[in-house]
Amino acid sequence: SNLINCEPLKSLVRTVPDFPKPGILFYDITTLLKDKTGFAQLIDAFAAYYIGKDIDLVLGIEARGFIFGPALAYRLNAGFVPVRKPKKLPAKTARVSYDLEYGTDSLEIHLDAIQPGERVVIVDDLLATGGTMQATVQLVRQMGGVIAGLGFAVELDFLKGRAKFPEYDVLSLLHYD
Ligand code: AMP
Repeated sequence: SNLINCEPLKSLVRTVPDFPKPGILFYDITTLLKDKTGFAQLIDAFAAYYIGKDIDLVLGIEARGFIFGPALAYRLNAGFVPVRKPKKLPAKTARVSYDLEYGTDSLEIHLDAIQPGERVVIVDDLLATGGTMQATVQLVRQMGGVIAGLGFAVELDFLKGRAKFPEYDVLSLLHYD
């Protein structure tokens, strides 16, 4: 498929040590988003990869998947569906819970957001352990959606989150060791 080399965009991602807590190196994409050519190149790279793959829906995971998802959906002539933290969506939802380092978290999607057989790309800003995406994959599968791809702006390769998705097409535009 069409894979545009985005490595030069890595210089636009800011790393912030000890955020949100000591020991975490945070990959801050706001510095990339505000760069007019950088943001365009990122969306162009996603679009080039998924165009022609007959995508019906782009799902964005709250919150930073809401930044890339709609821009990509627009480019693909696809719809956009938000996957949200609990109790935000107003109509009937499906919910999935997943483990965090300490405790659990949940995500929800509207029950009527995906029709069986629809082709879905799920996007988020960053792939770390893959737990968040794995939970979202479960939701989509329960609803009968066909997962055509998992897309991330950034992948932390050393965490090997990609290994959770051997059966799926995982695209990450920027890689960090
Ligand atoms: P995970 O479920 O471990 O793959 O974590 C992915 C989610 O947590 C994504 O929604 C990211 O936005 C966020 N995240 C995890 N680690 C980082 C990090 N080092 N820098 C920025 N965001 C992160």
